[in-house]
Amino acid sequence: MNFDQLGLIAPIARAVRQKGYAKPSPIQAKCIPVVLNGKDLMASAQTGTGKTAAFVLPILQLLSEGPRPSPKHIHALIVTPTRELAAQVQTNIVEYSAHLQLSNLVVFGGVNIRPQIRQLQRGVDILVATPGRLLDLQSQGAIHLDAVQILVLDEADRMLDMGFIHDIRRIQKLLPKQKQSLLFSATFSKEIRQLAKTMLQQPSEVDVAPRNSTVKTVRQRIHPVDKGRKPALLEYLIKENHWHQVLVFSRTKHGANKLVKLLLQANIRAVAIHGNKSQAARTRALADFKAGKVDVMVATDIAARGIDIAELPHVVNFDLPNVPEDYVHRIGRTGRAGAAGEAVSLVCADEIKQLRDIERVIHASLTREEIAGFEPQHVLPTSKQLAKSTQHKPGGDNVARMNRQRKNKTQRKRSARNRKPNAA
Ligand code: ADP
Ligand code: MG
Repeated sequence: MNFDQLGLIAPIARAVRQKGYAKPSPIQAKCIPVVLNGKDLMASAQTGTGKTAAFVLPILQLLSEGPRPSPKHIHALIVTPTRELAAQVQTNIVEYSAHLQLSNLVVFGGVNIRPQIRQLQRGVDILVATPGRLLDLQSQGAIHLDAVQILVLDEADRMLDMGFIHDIRRIQKLLPKQKQSLLFSATFSKEIRQLAKTMLQQPSEVDVAPRNSTVKTVRQRIHPVDKGRKPALLEYLIKENHWHQVLVFSRTKHGANKLVKLLLQANIRAVAIHGNKSQAARTRALADFKAGKVDVMVATDIAARGIDIAELPHVVNFDLPNVPEDYVHRIGRTGRAGAAGEAVSLVCADEIKQLRDIERVIHASLTREEIAGFEPQHVLPTSKQLAKSTQHKPGGDNVARMNRQRKNKTQRKRSARNRKPNAA
């Protein structure tokens, strides 16, 4: 199977070859014919499986068959949750449409709106946008959405996590009823299916990977360690193993900043990427990281979402994510397009609840490895032990009570977090 056999026209197949793709990935092989047929689509595949080309390539083809847009009008709209992802999707569009006469533009917040308004003036074939800025431009009269033929929601699950549901609904209302809609996601939750029901008409469903399974080529393990020793352990791992290009996940923006400071003090070149940074700073951080000018990028989940870094060898979970699906996304950053990768999680006793949730979602228990000199004082219970002890009373009322307390504590923490979401 090659790209021509999927029904793609020569200029597109040529661009993809020039990009170095030998053959379509499974999600591409399944989605491209469906989109070319004009059908609505709901597609799920793990991160790094090539979803972008799965919708961009057929969209380019469909648009190239029609007329160019009128002033301020657009023909295809791709909505993404983050600025980085929007920029990345547009980069791909530029590459894939190298031999076509289609215009494209990316718009997102955090940068001057004036040039965006100017560039929209002439009309754009294919626009990539984050929800907030798109609505801004629309309400200022800079863009008309009534000629949109194709809508894509990329990373729809993250869009919902980030609370964009109302924006999505508002955008939907501005679009013509008669159009083709595509919904892409790494995982499919109940909420996503609900959204799909209201957005899609008799969609084809494509699901290439078992839901929420993790990429097989990623070697995963956890290092049990006390909370306070995590920075020292991270420094040790990086130096001892001569790691370069390490993506470290932090649950909070504050935690990311603090960790970068500590790493810099340890002479490790590090940079943080999260929502409190200006767009320019985020772009620069990513460029420096990609170019190998810094060894460690510390990111929050939202900032890191969808960022494509070719063959990222190491992902470290400095904290475990609260939402287990985020674990799948995080380690999807490594081992991309078949390259082997390594995902390491530093886990303290407090995080047993998150660990159990993750192991449940990925249907596997993660290999544990204590590092000499960093053995925890507060022992990380085995997942099995905890499961058993909550079930069996004979283990002693003390054990049951401890587990109840631990559970309550985690729940309290969780609801506190929920009240004050750490939007990056
Ligand atoms: P996803 O959106 O599923 O996370 P991306 O679209 O970002 O994945 O693609 C991940 C990486 O795989 C990118 O570097 C992309 O250039 C590469 N890629 C996409 N399709 C192919 C292909 N058919 N062959 C080889 N590499 C590909
Ligand atoms: Mg993607």
